[in-house]
Amino acid sequence: MQTIGILGGGQLARMLALAGAPLGLRFLVVDSAEDACAGQVAPLLRTDWRDFDRLGEFAARVDVATFDFENVPAETAHWLTEHVPVFPNPRALAISQDRLAEKTLFREIGLDTPAFAPVNSRDELARALEHVGAPAILKTRRLGYDGKGQFRLKSAADVDAAWEALGGAPSILEAFVPFERELSVIAVRSREGEFRTYPLTQNWHADGILAASLAPAPHAEALAPVAYAHARRIAEELDYVGVFALELFVRDGELLGNEMAPRVHNSGHWTIEGAPASQFENHLRAVLGLPLGDSGALDIHVMLNWIGELPDPLPILAEPRAHWHDYGKSARAGRKVGHATVCARSAVEMRERLTRIGKALGREAQVAPVLAALTSD
Ligand code: ATP
Ligand code: MG
Ligand code: MG
Repeated sequence: MQTIGILGGGQLARMLALAGAPLGLRFLVVDSAEDACAGQVAPLLRTDWRDFDRLGEFAARVDVATFDFENVPAETAHWLTEHVPVFPNPRALAISQDRLAEKTLFREIGLDTPAFAPVNSRDELARALEHVGAPAILKTRRLGYDGKGQFRLKSAADVDAAWEALGGAPSILEAFVPFERELSVIAVRSREGEFRTYPLTQNWHADGILAASLAPAPHAEALAPVAYAHARRIAEELDYVGVFALELFVRDGELLGNEMAPRVHNSGHWTIEGAPASQFENHLRAVLGLPLGDSGALDIHVMLNWIGELPDPLPILAEPRAHWHDYGKSARAGRKVGHATVCARSAVEMRERLTRIGKALGREAQVAPVLAALTSD
């Protein structure tokens, strides 16, 4: 019986623990919040990221440690590696924590990115905007998620407001990309170096937060092998172990790297019902040095995210092959509180199911872009 330690006790840790139960795994989750939702399904140890006594207790009780949360301080990750195997490794974590290091890596391995420039002062921002061009997005290098820590600039007139909005934090200015669509690769590499990807997923965001995903992404036959090759190069360059997500924009039919997440990812939640081995199961297999499971898609799958509060579950539960996920969190604006995954054998069947769900929940706007993607040839 092995025990997996997870740093961070959100819904990702919760779903990892749920996926690990059939494998006979035990879990220990650490989080600073007493009510971290993974604590409802696994033992929870409260600590902050610099309490090395508590972290020592954690390390002594687990066989391997991994992350639900990528912003664990690099110092803590390094310290842990002296006490227990940690996957992914601290260098992979550190690079994915920093948008500048991450985009630099993408370019090094041959994945193009939006034009970008580092920004450390107001004047540097003004110069960066001349270099990158307007419109542009200023993003903090660290700690941003769900579109937080970002400011969109329409012109040079927005420089002061942007610099103030981000509080002068070290940042990166990126060209705003009028993309055709957003895709992600969920990839996994094991301790033995075995590498697999799930089929490309198409994603839609609202207010910077993932709203819906469709897998496999339609009409992606040409892009998919290119995207997988980029993911593989990143994994090998970082000696990465575990699941990660690579977020991509498609512009003029070409892929641009947006960011990577060094962990299981929201755009891979469909794999729980939609793949023989989910991203959560494969992450556990990878960090334990076990053979990886089949990462193919069983059918067509749509994931709908519930942000802020849960809708009525009944229209989902009434639908054949729709699956309800409640993370056990309290409602709060902008918070991910649950999701649903809808499975279907054909685009026609998926359209019928999504149309009924959108109408019953009054969420036509959330399903509309997915319906459109399921029809366009
Ligand atoms: P996540 O929750 O995915 O970690 P994040 O806060 O790290 O989000 P990004 O992924 O950088 O932020 O941006 C969130 C969304 O904002 C993107 O998925 C995309 O829809 C939009 N966006 C970000 N950067 C750009 C860009 N350069 N051009 C156009 N749209 C962008
Ligand atoms: Mg991010
Ligand atoms: Mg993102």
